[in-house]
Amino acid sequence: MILGQKLTQRKRSHRFPAFLDLQDKTVVLIGGGDRAASKAGRLVAGGAKLTVIAENLCQAFAPLANDESLKHEPRTSNSDDFNNVALVVVATEDSDQNTVIAKQAHAAGAWVNVANQPDMSSFLIPSLIDRSPLLVAISSGATSPVLARLLTSRIDAFLPHTYSDLGKLADTYREKIKQHVGDWRQRRRFWEKLLNGRVGELILQGRIDSAEQAMENAIQEHDQHSLSGEVYLVGAGPGDPDLLSFRALRLMQQCDIVLFDRLVSEPIMRLVNSDAERVYVGKRRNEHAVPQESINGLLVTYAKQGKRVLRLKGGDPFIFGRGGEEIETLAEQGVSFQVVPGITAAAGCASYAGIPLTHRDHAQACLFVTGHLKDGSVDLDWPALARPHQTVVIYMGLMGLPVICQKLIEHGLAEEHPIALIAEGTRQSQQVLTATLGTLPELVNSHIIKPPTLIIVGDVVTLREKLAWFETRS
Ligand code: SAH
Repeated sequence: MILGQKLTQRKRSHRFPAFLDLQDKTVVLIGGGDRAASKAGRLVAGGAKLTVIAENLCQAFAPLANDESLKHEPRTSNSDDFNNVALVVVATEDSDQNTVIAKQAHAAGAWVNVANQPDMSSFLIPSLIDRSPLLVAISSGATSPVLARLLTSRIDAFLPHTYSDLGKLADTYREKIKQHVGDWRQRRRFWEKLLNGRVGELILQGRIDSAEQAMENAIQEHDQHSLSGEVYLVGAGPGDPDLLSFRALRLMQQCDIVLFDRLVSEPIMRLVNSDAERVYVGKRRNEHAVPQESINGLLVTYAKQGKRVLRLKGGDPFIFGRGGEEIETLAEQGVSFQVVPGITAAAGCASYAGIPLTHRDHAQACLFVTGHLKDGSVDLDWPALARPHQTVVIYMGLMGLPVICQKLIEHGLAEEHPIALIAEGTRQSQQVLTATLGTLPELVNSHIIKPPTLIIVGDVVTLREKLAWFETRS
């Protein structure tokens, strides 16, 4: 509850990140201890003309002793020190004294950072991972410096130092490539191809000369028309973003435009490249926001404009997802495409509900069927669905649930045959009802059920009693 309340409050931890150009700007640092010394190093590295005001400087300032950008004034500070300076950093070892000095600095209109006092600070100094010219800055908004440090060391360990060389190489070739590849979208793709491909690979191996050669070759070989559009038909899984594949994530981050529907969860949409244009083509039951033929046509149109089009679908694109129809049109029109499988609702919901679909004591087969009503009737092969020793997973079956249960009983399954309904599977809001063919329709009526929902019929449902884990995590 406390966390819930905090999340809704607007806090001082909301800050705007920015990288400042301090070249030849005057920065005043108050304090001569260890804490001040670590800030001094960072400020000088950032290009500042630094004035340190402190009676004495501790040993930790020694590496900066001969640095021309640093001027030491051995005295105490006063309110005149803060006029016309870019930044003030207050870091004496005495926090009461820091508060007094910070007030003077604020009064002079300066941007002020005070060690360990975020509420007194108009700017924070983030933890830094330095792969110059690439910088990764991390801040917890002063809510947890330890968390920020943990994250910093994780990213630091994971990010090869050669990224620095990659950044330098990119800088060297920036202008040349800008002249060579005029269109910005084509240029972005050209860069992505280089950095994601051979050039990036060579640099990461430390082979800088070869990387430069590969860069030159790529520029020579580049032909404006070689970067034609493509469609990525990507399965986004049932909702939990952790269930995306690496390939799905990579393509999500490099697309120019995304066509998505309602089954794709919010947290997953947040992982799509933020520059990509978003087109909602969602369908609701009995109400088609955009007809399927139009979606097929849009994919072709956008790809022929040279765009990388992400068609993001819930679950797996080939399982009750009409993905097949979409790429059929692309194939007919000669548009290139790739398909990325996703975790289908049956697999995702079963795992997160603790229902092993083919536990060998209970089921030798598993059928996936759609319970979508056509003209008010469910048209399924009931004798096949009512066979023993199998599990039946029903997509889009909520509306037809009473009919489904009744038909299965009519075709030979017992009224006590186990059945489960999983709503919003794999999401934090997942809800699972377990019952029998005789009782589930009634049980569903007495609950508020949020779509999407999936039905699982079979003895394996009883295993949930022992194997449920998702809702019971502590
Ligand atoms: N291609 C998708 C299925 C599309 S049909 C896949 O492979 O999962 C849409 C149906 O999938 C929904 O009506 C529902 O039955 C099921 N479904 C999809 N996501 C679900 C989820 N998170 N929880 C429960 N059912 C889901």
